[in-house]
Amino acid sequence: MKFTLPKLEFAYDALEPAIDAKTMEVHYEKHHQGYLDKLNSALGDIETKEKPIEEILSDLNKIPEAVRTSVRNNGGGFYNHCLFWSCLSPESDRNHNGPVKDLAAAIDSSFTNFNEFKKNFEATALGQFGSGWAWLCFRDDGALEINSTANQDSPLMGSFIGLAEATPIFGVDVWEHAYYLHYQNRRAEYLNAIWSVVNWGKIAENFQRAQASQSLRKR
Ligand code: MN
Repeated sequence: MKFTLPKLEFAYDALEPAIDAKTMEVHYEKHHQGYLDKLNSALGDIETKEKPIEEILSDLNKIPEAVRTSVRNNGGGFYNHCLFWSCLSPESDRNHNGPVKDLAAAIDSSFTNFNEFKKNFEATALGQFGSGWAWLCFRDDGALEINSTANQDSPLMGSFIGLAEATPIFGVDVWEHAYYLHYQNRRAEYLNAIWSVVNWGKIAENFQRAQASQSLRKR
């Protein structure tokens, strides 16, 4: 079995003006595809290939040392972009006004209110030096947290990259390839525009799934 690219739920130009069509095309067809191809080639025929990518990234020590760095970088790249695309949708769709119900309550309780959450998230994403990602994560103690990782590392990698165990429920790519064509060096403008295409319905689903698997583990 080989991992495959997820089908995009929107056209390349559907996220404009927040994300331009050319950036979407190159990002998905070249960058995401590139991580995927290198991941499949690094995994070769080793048995972990039957596992979901989340499980592989959560236990990188099980990967043979010879390909561990490649799986970390390219498996992270593959998974991170899958999550990113799934949390975006055209501005005209529903659910762009912000979180509701349980997720809204969790955001308020962890960050005071939605505006404070956005401010903290943007500051973290802006503060990530060089290439990386900003994340909204569900922690094992039930709280939400914002953090960032370098390169294609994912919070799923946990102690392997010196983070506490947490499930990312939303992430924003801050590699220059994610915004440079349209925004050049203006990362802050890109981050500000992203909110208009965030699919809060999808993030709420991820939140519920993370809560459910936490309560299963604690049983
Ligand atoms: Mn990217």
